[in-house]
Amino acid sequence: MEPATRPAGSLIMIVAPSGAGKSTLVKALLEHDPSIRLSISCTTRAPRPGEQNGREYHFLSVEEFLTSRERGEFLEWAEIYGNYYGTSAPRIAEHIATGADVLLEIDWQGAQQVKKLFPDAVGIFILPPSIATLEERLTKRGQDAPDVIARRVQAAESEISHAAECEYVIINQSFATALSELTAVVSAARCRFSRQAARNASLFSELGIAPTAARTAD
Ligand code: 5GP
Repeated sequence: MEPATRPAGSLIMIVAPSGAGKSTLVKALLEHDPSIRLSISCTTRAPRPGEQNGREYHFLSVEEFLTSRERGEFLEWAEIYGNYYGTSAPRIAEHIATGADVLLEIDWQGAQQVKKLFPDAVGIFILPPSIATLEERLTKRGQDAPDVIARRVQAAESEISHAAECEYVIINQSFATALSELTAVVSAARCRFSRQAARNASLFSELGIAPTAARTAD
């Protein structure tokens, strides 16, 4: 779907290493603005305590994931910490067709793939205030074994090296500040020329404003 012709919603990618506080921020954003559609990814990793199939993720076996991948059913996919993660293409197409803003929680590899397909997708990178804080958050969560935490801290540093690929960066030191910055970025994404033109086609036409090809990547 071309950015110029697709419906008015923004495609927003939230990229962050584990422990940056991304999930809590996203949950608060969705409570603040229930019109945003969250994409539920597929993964082959085991559910953590408290996670429910179809709520945090669609939990698939490796075989199921690979079969879907073979069929081209993922908009993007990545192997992270030895598990597969992917975004269902048909589900995203359904969300996009509603004209709502669609939020993807994905890693840098997925973000690169989405950007190729949708150059106007907006990337927001959530940074922890320090590596020590990140490590502390992963440990406090108490959901992963120490060796897994150590691997995740290492992986976080590699994820962070891709922060420059996102248009926006939010440093999650104060939750309240980070949330207000996140809502501001979502509002800014909605006000881009291409999204406003798509949302207000008749007004733009009445005012004689032509959507130009040069603006579609805004
Ligand atoms: P976790 O296992 O902690 O829930 O997620 C690990 C990493 O996988 C996070 O960086 C998260 O953003 C990423 N991730 C979750 N879903 C997807 C997805 O559908 N695609 C990609 N590329 N990454 C994902």
